[in-house]
Amino acid sequence: MEPDKPTTITCTVISIDHTSLHYTVCSSCERTLTLPDTQCCTFLKNTTNINSQVGPTSKLLFRVLMSVATDEKVFVVVAFDRAAKVLFGCSAQEFVDFAKIYPFSAETASKILEGEMLRVTLSKPKNGNAQHQRVVSVVPLKSGFRPVIDTLREIYGVRSVKLQKRGANDS
Ligand SMILES: [Zn+2]
Repeated sequence: MEPDKPTTITCTVISIDHTSLHYTVCSSCERTLTLPDTQCCTFLKNTTNINSQVGPTSKLLFRVLMSVATDEKVFVVVAFDRAAKVLFGCSAQEFVDFAKIYPFSAETASKILEGEMLRVTLSKPKNGNAQHQRVVSVVPLKSGFRPVIDTLREIYGVRSVKLQKRGANDS
């Protein structure tokens, strides 16, 4: 088997690590920042042009550790921003903003995703330090899958455009 070839599996979510769902990067170069408000790219703060606003210097991206089970084994995979957005239905920043108002959102998100069947394409970590296979793409298999944020909004009674658009077959 070629080591770098992505593999596609069907798996069930056992749990997600809801204590750490995201990380902070420089909004300009996307380098990981260990402290949220550190300035990374110095040209931003050294600008002398009064009209050029210093933009947000950091942004949040998803990094979600998930325990998944196949018919053979249980193991941990890591879903970065693009894959995690499929499951969450929003950006990491939107999720964090939502969780500020509803503090148990992360725990609830974990419960929502538990038992979800996914078709996942995994790649072996290129970086020798990375310990988990990385989710390249994810397809929820349940028909009528709803992203986490939609379910959370419903649980917490938050109206959203998406919810109001649902059709007449709801009763
Ligand atoms: Zn930077």
